[in-house]
Formats: sequence, C-alpha cells, structure tokens
Amino acid sequence: MANKRVMIVGGVAGGATCAARLRRMDENAEIIVLDRGPYVSFANCGLPYYVGNVIREESNLLLATPALFRDRFNIEVRTQNEVLAIDRAASSLSVRDLLTGRTYTESYDALVLSPGAAPICPPWPGIDLPGIFTLRTVPDSREIRNWIEEKKPRTAVVVGGGFIGLEMAENLAHREIAVTIVEMANQVMPPLDSEMAEYAKQQLESHGVALALGDAVAEFAHGAGNHIQVRTKSGSAYEADLVVLAIGVRPETNLARQAGLEIGERGGIRVDNQMRTSDPRVWAVGDAVEVRNRVTGQWELTPLAGPANRQGRIAADVICGRDAHFDGVLGTAVCGFFDFTVALTGATEKALRRAKMDDFQCIYLHPGHHVGYYPGAQPIHLKLIFRKSDGLVLGAQAAGAEGAERRIDIIANAIQMKATVFDLEEAELCYAPQYGAAKDPVNMAGMIAANMLRGDAEFAPWEEIQSSNEFLLDVREPAEFEAGSIPGSVNIPLGQLRARLGELPRSKEIWINCGVGQRAYYACRILVQNGLSARNLSGGYATYRVLHP
Ligand SMILES: Cc1cc2nc3c(=O)[nH]c(=O)nc-3n(C[C@H](O)[C@H](O)[C@H](O)COP(=O)(O)OP(=O)(O)OC[C@H]3O[C@@H](n4cnc5c(N)ncnc54)[C@H](O)[C@@H]3O)c2cc1C
Repeated sequence: MANKRVMIVGGVAGGATCAARLRRMDENAEIIVLDRGPYVSFANCGLPYYVGNVIREESNLLLATPALFRDRFNIEVRTQNEVLAIDRAASSLSVRDLLTGRTYTESYDALVLSPGAAPICPPWPGIDLPGIFTLRTVPDSREIRNWIEEKKPRTAVVVGGGFIGLEMAENLAHREIAVTIVEMANQVMPPLDSEMAEYAKQQLESHGVALALGDAVAEFAHGAGNHIQVRTKSGSAYEADLVVLAIGVRPETNLARQAGLEIGERGGIRVDNQMRTSDPRVWAVGDAVEVRNRVTGQWELTPLAGPANRQGRIAADVICGRDAHFDGVLGTAVCGFFDFTVALTGATEKALRRAKMDDFQCIYLHPGHHVGYYPGAQPIHLKLIFRKSDGLVLGAQAAGAEGAERRIDIIANAIQMKATVFDLEEAELCYAPQYGAAKDPVNMAGMIAANMLRGDAEFAPWEEIQSSNEFLLDVREPAEFEAGSIPGSVNIPLGQLRARLGELPRSKEIWINCGVGQRAYYACRILVQNGLSARNLSGGYATYRVLHP
C-alpha cells in the first residue's frame, strides 16, 4: 500500500503538534505542513512579553524551524504557502506560494486543519490609522516593538480587558507607557464571574492602569499632535500614542466554509470527539474548532494552547488508526499581571446559569497561600462551585499573588476525574510551611462545601443580603467591625457569643459573617447547637467587599 499523504494547514500549536505526533506514529507517512506565515511553531503566548521586552530576542519565540522539522522528523514544512481552497471531491488543496505567486495543487489522503483564529477587528471608522495594532503573530509583535522604539509612546489604549488585553497592559506598563483599558463589559476578564474579576480590577488600578469599563469603542480619529483619539459609545475620548486591539478572536473558518464542512453554533468548525469534521478524511483542531464543555455540555470556542496541542495529538493518533478521543474542555486558564494571578477552570456561575443548570452552590474562601506563621503568606481568593445534590465539583476561580494557579490546576484535575467536594476534603497534597498548609486551600474548600452538604453549616444567599429581613450578625472584633461592616449587621464578637445568646432572635434566621468565614462557621455551630437557626455568609466580609465594590 502507498504511504499515507497527510497535509496539515497551519504549523503552530495544533498543526505542529499533529505533524510531530504523526511522524512518531507512522514512520512512512508523507507529512507536509503549509503555513502562510513566515514561521511555524512559534510561541504566540510569549508575544506580549516580547513587546514588553521581558523576552528580549525574537529568536526565543521560535520553538522549531522548518529545518528542524525536516532533519528530526522528516516532515516537509512550507512557510509562506497559503492554502486557498479545498477540493473535497478530488481530495486536493489549492495552494499559493506567497513568495513567487505561483498557485499549485496538492493531493491528500488525510487533511488536518489547524488555521487558528484571527483577532476581531471591527470596521470602526479610523481602524486603519497608524499606531493601531492587533497581536497574533511574530511580525505583529515586531511591529508593536518597532513602534515603541521609534515613536516612544507615552500613552496607550488597550481595547479589551481579557487575557491578552491584561497581558498587554502589563507589558506596555513595563515599557513605561501609561495604559487605559477600554472594556465593553462591566468587568475585566469577562470569563470570570464579576466578583472574582474585582480582584484583577483592584490590582490593575493599584498599578496605575486606568479602566474604562462598561464602555465600547465607537471610532478612532486623529487627535492632537500625532495622537490617536479613541472615542467611545458613552461619548468619552482617550488620547493615545499606541492602541492595541484585544477584543477576542474569531475562528478561521474560511477554508472549511468554502469546502462545505459543517460549522457549529458558535461559529467554529464542528468536529466529533476524534477531531474529525463532517468529512471523514478531514480533521480540524485548535482555535478554529468548537468543542463541548465537559461540565455544561455546551459547545464552546476555547482558544487556548493546551486544547490545541492535545487535539493535534489526538487527530494524529486517529489518522494512524488509534482509538483516541477528545472529551471536551474545562476552559482551564490563567493570566498573570503585575505579580498577580487569576485562574479558572470548569464552569463559572454565569455559565451554569446560561446553561440553566441550577443545581449548584458557590462558596468563597480567602486562605493564605501558605501557613500564616511562615513569612510572606498572601491570600488566595477562591470560589468553588459544586453540585448541591451530590457535591460534584463543577468549577473554580482563584485570584492572588501566589499559588492561585496551583489550586486551580488541582481542582481542574479533580473535575476531569469527576471528583466531589468530599474528594477535595480528602485530597493529599504536598505541604511544608513555605508552600501551603496541612489543610491546603483546596482541602479547606472541600471541607467547607462538605460541611454544608452534611448539614453542619448552611450558607445564606449573598444575593439576598440587601433585601433580606433576617438578623445579620457580625462576629468580628469591634475594631474590625468599625473599619467596615455589612449595613444593618449587629456586632457580637465570637468570644462573647456564648454569653450573649439571649440578644439573638429565635423568630428569625441569623446570617453570620466574619472576616473570611472561619469565625462565622464557629459561631454558626454554637448557635445551631443552642437551638437557633443560623447560616453563614460564605467568605465573610472579604466576599462582601467584592460583591459590593
Ligand atoms: C498574544 C497571545 C497570547 C496567548 N497566550 C496564551 C496563553 O498564555 N495560554 C494559552 O493557553 N493560550 C494562549 N494563546 C492562545 C494560543 O496561542 C492558541 O490557542 C493556539 O496557538 C492555537 O493554536 P492553533 O494551531 O489552533 O492556531 P495558531 O497557533 O494560531 O496557528 C494557526 C496557523 O495557521 C496558519 N494559517 C491559517 N490559515 C491558513 C491558510 N489558509 N493557509 C496556510 N496557513 C494558514 C496561520 O498563519 C497560523 O500560523 C495566546 C494567543 C495569543 C495571540
């Protein structure tokens, strides 16, 4: 039998991984990678840091070259070769060599599409003004760097406060550029629940990044001097020497659409759980496809490097006859800026509501990233979401200066293994004073949730705090209470509670808060065992502050 001929469109995260895996699985296959860009296998994720001059050499972004693919893997890589069309009936591709302009045809036995996604670039008036950039490729990052070096910008507007927007804000700040982020949503980091995004907001503002939230760009115009004026729908205007558009990406589906491959409801290429498209000889992976979320079961676009790599590997295995499967995404992601980290996995509260999955409970906690007695403990703000009926872990979000991503990784794995909060309670995690605690924040989250499910500590609904008629009890010390408290709450410090039980009503529920939730739990146990009806406000006053910023 003739050797299999596999053509791969796109040679970065998904495509390059697929090619290398194919070779490991099939020494005889003919593997050709086509990419219209000048590089393959480059580090998109490193681009913001190249702009910020944290990564100093462009060559450090290039993880592999066509020569390496040839010598190490016997894979032919053709850069600056754009695939123009797929002829599925003839199993062939029409390709243009961008250097010579020559158009030619290539046949395939199997075709893998990994064309990625393109930055969204709306047709706003003035969008083509010099000094307005998007960031997707090495040349994009070079252009921004050159602009910084030549024009010495002092001000920048970053449009979009998601992952890339925040990374760009940090890196432009590194270059001593004053940054304003304009974000259409009322929060930064739209994938997070809004109260968890509040930590990111505070961190950005404390580092001098100006935020214009809940406002959308309407147009760009020439401003004073050589400035670009960024005008928003609310009527505000921001002068900037440099603008970076980071308002999301759109899957590259032109080839797939033109070839009549099925496109899904989120606008990505529809694939099965073996990354096969509606044509059994065509696979698609990476940012261009939509896949199911493991928790909500809904179709999602997840433009992240991890899924792209794993999907590329799975497509290669399937092409080589293996029974490999991609079982969906959790959307596990992390973003760091100004020595601060936000991370998430699984479903957020808003995703569950969108999916009409109402059987869930959220808890908040704010433990140190390691024990308090060892110097340097930093709080991790953690939100855990689990199924109320059986404790199945559904999602988690964390924010903090240290250790947030480690906890999210643990919980991500737990979700993937279909663990419950009782498993988190029992998780055996590494501990020494400088790393964690004998009861790690993940254990703590499991214990708090498990206490609730066992009926040992009920939670009061934060969303009803302002309308509720229940008795609000604050068990912190008076000095803490005076520094800020939930309106209408009554202060009885935990140490006095047993002696002052008579001051509490028996006709109402007592909703208890403290600093971060621990003393309120103790108080709750005292009250319940004394015949009162009591519930905790999860995460205490620390949670109240982000819910009511
Ligand atoms: C600035 C930035 C930072 C990021 N940071 C992170 C991060 O920290 N963590 C994370 O998980 N993810 C991050 N990502 C996302 C991650 O890079 C992508 O999810 C991943 O690269 C997707 O891989 P892919 O193979 O689908 O597409 P890509 O890596 O984009 O590769 C697609 C390739 O296909 C080529 N191509 C497209 N159409 C054609 C055609 N018709 N003919 C020939 N070639 C074609 C393109 O030129 C491109 O080189 C970041 C992305 C960017 C842009």
